[in-house]
Amino acid sequence: MEPEAQRVRERSNAGRRNLFVCPRCLAVAVTVDRDRGLTPPAIACVRCGRAFARSLGYPEEAALHEAMYEFYAPDAEEVDRLKAAGQLARLEWVARGGLLLRRRAVVRMAPPPSQDEREGP
Ligand SMILES: [Zn+2]
Repeated sequence: MEPEAQRVRERSNAGRRNLFVCPRCLAVAVTVDRDRGLTPPAIACVRCGRAFARSLGYPEEAALHEAMYEFYAPDAEEVDRLKAAGQLARLEWVARGGLLLRRRAVVRMAPPPSQDEREGP
């Protein structure tokens, strides 16, 4: 990893949630930093797609909302796919310690096992 990318990771917001607000349609995207790394000051609006939603800088109230999107560090396989697709700007961003954004899979928690199931027959 490049030294600059290393510094970026050290001052990361991993585990914290952030809000991005679109100035055009006022949609709010709730994000979480899944990995350590850099996030952009603005993202394409997830609703209208016609403006850039701006970061509110990890406000405390973001923690009250469920994050529908996550910033993550791509693995080697995805980096190879980006190379194959000629996504040079994204590759450069990742090389500088930047994280990519994706929609989160919705995880449903299974109910805890009942007393009988834990003890077995
Ligand atoms: Zn919008």
